[in-house]
Amino acid sequence: MFFRTATLRTVAINPDQFAYVGVWSMGVNQSLNIAIPNQPCQMNQVIKNEMRPIIKKIAILSAGMLTFVVLMAFPFGPLLPWSPIKPGYHRTTFASAEIYFNRNERAPEEYRELDQMAREAEAFHHLRFHQKVTVIACKNWGDCERGLPWLNVHPLGGVTLATGDVIYITPTLREKNFSLREFLRHELSHALISQNTTIRKSVKLNEVAWFNEGLAVSFARQHDYLSREAFLSRAATDELAKFIDPAKIDQSSPNWSARFAYPAQRYFVEYLKATFGDERFTQFLVKCIADPDNHSTLFSEVFQQPIADAIGNYQKAVRTGQRPLVE
Ligand SMILES: [Zn+2]
Repeated sequence: MFFRTATLRTVAINPDQFAYVGVWSMGVNQSLNIAIPNQPCQMNQVIKNEMRPIIKKIAILSAGMLTFVVLMAFPFGPLLPWSPIKPGYHRTTFASAEIYFNRNERAPEEYRELDQMAREAEAFHHLRFHQKVTVIACKNWGDCERGLPWLNVHPLGGVTLATGDVIYITPTLREKNFSLREFLRHELSHALISQNTTIRKSVKLNEVAWFNEGLAVSFARQHDYLSREAFLSRAATDELAKFIDPAKIDQSSPNWSARFAYPAQRYFVEYLKATFGDERFTQFLVKCIADPDNHSTLFSEVFQQPIADAIGNYQKAVRTGQRPLVE
């Protein structure tokens, strides 16, 4: 305050030099705050001087901790797939995949079929794998939770990252005696689609579940969700659009059931292929993975009818026993 008063006085005395004095005063103010003894300023400076090494130490400590956390995220966290060391796992290399399995156990025989599965996936989707897939069979739930901290992994049997080059297999399969072969095929479908689009579009495709999951469940020929009979029984009364149409799906509804939705979506994919032909379906597939934001318009363009109509016709086919086919 003292210096500000002095400045004003100077300006009043010499108005011609207003601008110059003003600038000069600001310079004096700034330098005097440090140079001239003044109790509160001095205290501030003392505190500042004392704080400096502490702040420096905190900064170094924080940087060290951050580096430690990032480094630990490789062998014990979400960066495990890209970690050069994977503690507790042994690796088996195939042409199309690398499998990491509990080092104290032998990997199940199904993993040896991965190359064959990958070739079949390419033929089924009319797409090519561009990268090897890293498959991590979590040796326990802790590894799955640390590897996929953004997901509630416990209800899941397998997870494919949107990058398309990493598949996690969870302990669910062993605990519930689900088919490893079916789940590997399911996740390979996701991996193949993701490798043929961008990460953002791969994430977006989750909103087109009938397409994304329907293809995966169809390629995997999965039976672990619901038998054909159980599906038909429920489909007799439940509106299939609520499990297929992205505009009508409500996963928070008490009536929602993923175990019913997955086969409903699978059979819809198979209905479309049977009705319009594999070539037409592939046209949609290529367009949809390139532009998932416009899946609804693309559907109408390729199949010459809105998805709501197609689902209605599919439901009729299901309720009259024409679909799904008996395997
Ligand atoms: Zn899936």
